[in-house]
Amino acid sequence: MKILLVEDERRMANATSELLKREGYDVEVEYEGEGGEDAFLTGIYDIAILDVMLPYKNGFDIVRSGRKKGIKTPVLMLTAKSDVSDKVRGLDSGADDYLTKPFQIEELLARVRALGRRGALVSPEEGILTVGDLRLDTKKLVLYCSATGKEIRLPEKEFHLMEYLITNKGTIISKEQLALKVWGYDNEAEYNNVEVYISFTRRKLKFLESKVQIKSVRGMGYELRGDEDA
Ligand code: CA
Repeated sequence: MKILLVEDERRMANATSELLKREGYDVEVEYEGEGGEDAFLTGIYDIAILDVMLPYKNGFDIVRSGRKKGIKTPVLMLTAKSDVSDKVRGLDSGADDYLTKPFQIEELLARVRALGRRGALVSPEEGILTVGDLRLDTKKLVLYCSATGKEIRLPEKEFHLMEYLITNKGTIISKEQLALKVWGYDNEAEYNNVEVYISFTRRKLKFLESKVQIKSVRGMGYELRGDEDA
């Protein structure tokens, strides 16, 4: 997950960046408002953490200009004081959450995780496939359950299997079709692979505690059912 951090206090920025990187995030830091705005407007980040008081351009203005240009990246604002008007201004400008400085790193990480989940739900047009409580991020190959907040990265074959099942949800898919779509050819040997990979994928759904199920339809194949029609 890619995070943009815009913070002008270098020591603070670098310490926060290191902590986030240790958690596995890919972090880019900008130390002033204009560079921060340029980076934010690229729209390539999953989350942006913006300080309010910055040289050249403040955090509120950065979010506002991004939202005006259709940038949906979830934003966490860092406000210097627990001033209510600052929080209101932040949320009005289009920020999603705020955190008052000084903050506990655990608190920051919790907010970032929450925004990351929200980001994954942002929009189907950005490569997110949906069925029931399941979301498949087709860019990151991550399967996520919106009901439990659990997520898992899928190996390539399981990803293609899941992608095909979701795009054909509610219809029965034969083993032959799956072998052809996922492995690229259709022969007896591949049909066993299908069964094995279906069981791997079912285990993942169980891990996520999703209500979506891959049903076996005797003699015909498989069908993906969401919780709304289970
Ligand atoms: Ca500052």
